[in-house]
Amino acid sequence: MCVICVAVNSTALQHYRKPCLMCVLCVKYKTFLVEFCCVFMLQSLSIWKAKKLYYLRMQGNREKMEGQNQCKKKLRVCVATCNRADYSKLAPIMFGIKSHPDEFELEVVVLGSHLIDDYGNTFRMIEQDDFDIGSKLHTIVRGEDEAAMVESVGLALVKLPDVLQRLRPDILVVHGDRFDALALATAAALMNIRILHLEGGEVSGTIDDSIRHAISKLAHYHACCTRRAEQHLIAMCEDHSRILLAGCPSYDKLLSTHHRDDHMDIIKSWLGDVKEHDYIVALQHPVTTDIQHSIKIYGLMLDALLSFKKRTLILFPNIDAGSKEMVRVMRKKGIEQNPNFRAVKHIPFEQFIQLVCHAGCMIGNSSCGVREAGAFGTPVINLGTRQTGRETGENVLHVRDADTHNKIYHALELQFGKRYPCSKIYGDGSAVPRILKFLRTIDLDEPLQKTFCFPPVKECISQDIDHILETQSALSVDLGGTNLRVAIVCMRGKIVNKYTKPNPKTFEARMELILEMCREAMQYAVHNNCRILGVGVSTGGRVNPQEGIVLHSTKLIQEWSSVDLRTPISDALHLPVWVDNDGNCAALAEKKFGHGKGVENFVTVITGTGIGGGIIHHNELVHGSTFCAAELGHIMVSLEGPECSCGSRGCIEAYASGMALQKEAKRLHDEDLLKVEGMDMKLSEPITAAHLINAAKLGNPKANAVLNKAATALGVGIINILHIVNPSLVILSGVLASYYQAPVQHTISERALFSVQSIKVVTSDLEEPALLGAASMVLDYETRRIY
Ligand SMILES: [Zn+2]
Repeated sequence: MCVICVAVNSTALQHYRKPCLMCVLCVKYKTFLVEFCCVFMLQSLSIWKAKKLYYLRMQGNREKMEGQNQCKKKLRVCVATCNRADYSKLAPIMFGIKSHPDEFELEVVVLGSHLIDDYGNTFRMIEQDDFDIGSKLHTIVRGEDEAAMVESVGLALVKLPDVLQRLRPDILVVHGDRFDALALATAAALMNIRILHLEGGEVSGTIDDSIRHAISKLAHYHACCTRRAEQHLIAMCEDHSRILLAGCPSYDKLLSTHHRDDHMDIIKSWLGDVKEHDYIVALQHPVTTDIQHSIKIYGLMLDALLSFKKRTLILFPNIDAGSKEMVRVMRKKGIEQNPNFRAVKHIPFEQFIQLVCHAGCMIGNSSCGVREAGAFGTPVINLGTRQTGRETGENVLHVRDADTHNKIYHALELQFGKRYPCSKIYGDGSAVPRILKFLRTIDLDEPLQKTFCFPPVKECISQDIDHILETQSALSVDLGGTNLRVAIVCMRGKIVNKYTKPNPKTFEARMELILEMCREAMQYAVHNNCRILGVGVSTGGRVNPQEGIVLHSTKLIQEWSSVDLRTPISDALHLPVWVDNDGNCAALAEKKFGHGKGVENFVTVITGTGIGGGIIHHNELVHGSTFCAAELGHIMVSLEGPECSCGSRGCIEAYASGMALQKEAKRLHDEDLLKVEGMDMKLSEPITAAHLINAAKLGNPKANAVLNKAATALGVGIINILHIVNPSLVILSGVLASYYQAPVQHTISERALFSVQSIKVVTSDLEEPALLGAASMVLDYETRRIY
């Protein structure tokens, strides 16, 4: 080993013990000698003098080096090639670089399958092209499976730093989407070496896509082939000023050499006596992700070709998994013996191009059909999914679902013998000059740091689970005797926005208004980031919730019987719709948001204008056989009693509802028995239940008697419920709830059976039970399932 190499250049381990020729000649050796002398002088002369001398010498050296750098100013371009395919794209660029020695310095690194026997030792192609290979790296771990690929990437990453350190290129050119290329890009990016990536932004399917895009992310400059690829790169936030739409470098050669005068000789040498545009080139490879299907397609293609009866040059499939079965299919059909066919294993690329260029049609799934054949305008039939995602010219007819021999045959009839204009999708033949020009413009003083051009992003709202729950909302509709109301209710029961309008008197006007209000609310929801899950409707009357139909309405809402609410609302708003009556909705509201949360059996009684309610039994609403259950207002507590709105007598609604109390208040007022001292009442004021309650509070005995009777009637009615369904809680809601709570509790303790005497009567906290209940049909998973 060379002593100096150890001291100065530790990477050059191959040199021998005495100072090697390289070290004798190299600058570093001279530097070493200077350093050596300086050390010597430090010992013999005074320290200050020596230091000064040493410093001056070093500075001189540095200036000399800088002077050299300035006069050369050549761009050191390192091209790394891994296999035959990427070499076919890189070679034109390498020739271009080599032909401008005054501007560029070319370094060639060879790795990957170039150096493997089974793949034909293709690095020899590079030597035959007269390029000096600076480094050969054996980076392939054998095994041909995924693990071997990963290990190969690892091996390349271990070996590359030394090479890149030694070559120190200004820029590394990497092609495509192979794992070797990923290793190259990773190493260079980490070592702060600029990367030019070829063919980024394309889409082809499989893992190749991920690798290609990953390399694009690591690369500082891009030379892409197609306009769509360029747009993809921009969409991937790459800096537009560093993207060159160059076209495919292999097209340069293709377009300049495909009109060869001897093309008929080449065609005749492979196919015998055949005319131009009157033969077929077939090339179908196995699709490794769906081998069985691709073998089936292969068989169908052969059948179609057999019946099409044209001279056909068929190439054996490549050596991927599945190729043996394909060859078996081919032999079974006697292709090799058929006089119309010529089956071959290999054709030199130059000749293959001539054959494709002058064919009547090309069929199969090779990328040559999709990319190169377009440049000649040769008709192509692309079978199956292998090239899905690739951009194709108009010359390509896809038979993606190639499941019958007929389909393929018809495709042949359509395509054979046609000519298409040359497709320029993948290039116009000037890629190399463009790339060289692009390389010249690279400013090495520009910071290496990549900038990603992110599109403007909308203000970000944090997405934790609470937020998601918060944004899930329902539209609720409440149809009352007076008003029509629509609200946006979020998952936690908050009313986000509410709309109120008078409930129209006719069916048509009402339906129209419901939809109009819902649409308005939905617009609001969109702007406020509420995701509407569905529509819940609470309405007066008897409802079939399974069908979403109002069967029979109360007298308060006209033209509202046998009305299908679900279909028109769902059709208009494209949302699922749930419907139930207001009493049941109030119970559902308590169950989800109120005192009924977690209570298995409870009853809600609403005391408003009328009396209604709902019964939750074993966590579910009781609807009954004709949806008439829980008509709590019409529980009868006396045989005679006052007349009820239902036409019967003695219902609790006729005693204790707001309507009933108003009627009594009016009666007392007419008899001049209502007003007591201290009661403020204007002459024109309409008489309501509130006046009665006020009068009772101020000591009016008549008013007190009416209210006591009402409370007792309600209490007795509730006792009947307790005796039938035995709930564990009674929730009173509605405007009169707080007034009735104490007397009802009292009545129960006095009159009910012992077992239910201790039941709790509470007043609801919910402000909008009907709207919240309607929303809960949408928001509550369990309710949604039941309905
Ligand atoms: Zn009644």
